[in-house]
Amino acid sequence: MAFDAIVIGSGMSGGIAAKELCEQGLKVLVLERGYDIDPAKDYTDMKMPWEFPDMNMVPQEEVERDYPVQSQCYAFNVANKHMWVKDSDHPYTTPEGKPFTWIRGYHTGGRSIMWGRQTYRWSDIDFEANKKDGYGVDWPIRYADIAPWYDKVEEFIGVAGTYESLPQLPDGKFLPGWELNDGEKFLKAAVEAKFPGRKIIIGRNANLSEARPHHEELGRGPCQNRSICDRGCSFGAMHSSLTSSLPAARKTGNLTLVTNAIVHAIIQDPATGKATGVRVIDRVTKVGKTYEAKVIFLNASTIPTATILLQSANEANPRGLANGSDQVGRNLMDHMYALSTAGILPGAPMDSYYKGRRPTGIYIPRYRNVTEDSDGYVRGYGYQGGAMRMTGKGMAGGPGTIGAEFKEGMHKFGPWMTFISGFGEMLPNPENRVTLNPTKKDQWGMPLPHVDCAMGPNEHKMVKQIMADGKAMIEAAGGKVIAQASEPGPLGLGIHEMGTARMGHDPKTSVLNKYNQAHEVPNLFITDGAAMTSSACVNPSLTYMALAARAAHHAVQFLKEGKI
Ligand SMILES: Cc1cc2nc3c(=O)[nH]c(=O)nc-3n(C[C@H](O)[C@H](O)[C@H](O)COP(=O)(O)OP(=O)(O)OC[C@H]3O[C@@H](n4cnc5c(N)ncnc54)[C@H](O)[C@@H]3O)c2cc1C
Ligand code: SF4
Repeated sequence: MAFDAIVIGSGMSGGIAAKELCEQGLKVLVLERGYDIDPAKDYTDMKMPWEFPDMNMVPQEEVERDYPVQSQCYAFNVANKHMWVKDSDHPYTTPEGKPFTWIRGYHTGGRSIMWGRQTYRWSDIDFEANKKDGYGVDWPIRYADIAPWYDKVEEFIGVAGTYESLPQLPDGKFLPGWELNDGEKFLKAAVEAKFPGRKIIIGRNANLSEARPHHEELGRGPCQNRSICDRGCSFGAMHSSLTSSLPAARKTGNLTLVTNAIVHAIIQDPATGKATGVRVIDRVTKVGKTYEAKVIFLNASTIPTATILLQSANEANPRGLANGSDQVGRNLMDHMYALSTAGILPGAPMDSYYKGRRPTGIYIPRYRNVTEDSDGYVRGYGYQGGAMRMTGKGMAGGPGTIGAEFKEGMHKFGPWMTFISGFGEMLPNPENRVTLNPTKKDQWGMPLPHVDCAMGPNEHKMVKQIMADGKAMIEAAGGKVIAQASEPGPLGLGIHEMGTARMGHDPKTSVLNKYNQAHEVPNLFITDGAAMTSSACVNPSLTYMALAARAAHHAVQFLKEGKI
């Protein structure tokens, strides 16, 4: 079967690529390795808490057997267990003593169904960083190249936020932002007074604070503030491929979605160098099939995208497709994560409390190497967090409190508690790498990915300051630190893996050009996290989507001009 375009992967970036290509009139085939999620059946956001067994915790025996990696993610629970891969079905290898916690979902929509929806633009500070300090290669684009595509994606998906005029965190096309609560306002006032270069703002999030007509046309409604988004959202109030970009693509009449189709390799015509199609293996029957198209978009997410390129080695390219530079699989990055500091704020207003929930928290944009110097490292970090009144068991009295006293205690509001958790930028390092395991294969006969990744000296230096600053900011508000992480979480757990097929000016040192087009395969575009040349410190998914929309536009133009 022949299509104009094939998009590999239906997740965050594949969804936007498919939408844009379909809207420009191309007949598009989306290939998804996982099963087809049916919101009516598979979303569990309409269930009551007591409908989930074991207080919504997956039994330990099952965790150890099937989910030893996925269960490390904060969002994994009984209600959404079916949205994570079974580690027992999808093994990968890491070197002894170098864990990489690879968090995944194989189904329509990929991880866009489970994501935390924190949505930020990168700035020129990020796009210029590699060139300025010499780590990695220079980005072939700057903020001005991607800004209109940020606009387009933000308007389409719906991003709530406030206008702050910060050079390191450009404003966008926002829906009204959620509000800081009184504890957060108190923390903000104290931190900004003591550290004038730091700001505390409401986290920008892809939840519809207001549904605009183009959202409603897709069946999306405003957010109900339930904060159970990782179970899927029946209101379509959070952006996911499933309720947003794929329905928009479908509306054009140009979309074909095939699930259970594991892409094994991209086929290249040795005469022209162009990709002609892909080979897939049916997940269930294990039967092979080939699909053809004029353009291929590879959006399987960072690690699978690298493995598909490596598996697509052919006679002319024994190291893998588009890999003349030997950069495919290299420069794997994630954000340093779980660098949390928690404290009590005795000075915050005790006559106010807030009720209900909110689908975002606070954000402290990067200030190191922007408004404040660093202690001997390049790049920087931001914090995500929040403040809340202490309630529940913590207020119910000490051990042995029972009956009416316990019940009364459960209704009390205690002091304000805050936590702020650092997300640090990781440098590109060619030794941090995805390769194919030379001997071990999965049940479909494909080599297991081998992930070899570690933090370097710059990251270790930054961690120290993330922790020290976290403490100093809580103390600036008269707070008392009650808990602090001693080390970052394992790599992978930031769930922002990126960088294995980077963009760059030079085909000798990069895989993709400034249009996300493979230097060596003109009709192959890669617009997931693999394309990233550096990692910034903000959440990356908006940038993947903006790059996908931009590349789709150029791919259609090149096709029309007969260039690919
Ligand atoms: C709990 C959680 C919280 C997060 N919070 C945030 C956040 O707040 N902000 C943010 O920016 N990011 C966040 N992320 C990360 C975000 O989800 C990812 O950056 C994003 O989904 C990556 O997009 P992608 O298109 O590269 O991959 P995915 O969305 O993972 O989609 C890849 C798709 O490709 C399919 N696929 C893989 N291999 C093949 C193959 N061989 N053949 C066919 N199909 C294949 C997969 O099944 C999947 O559907 C979070 C993630 C999680 C899990
Ligand atoms: S909080 Fe909003 S986006 Fe999240 S599940 Fe509820 S309605 Fe949907």
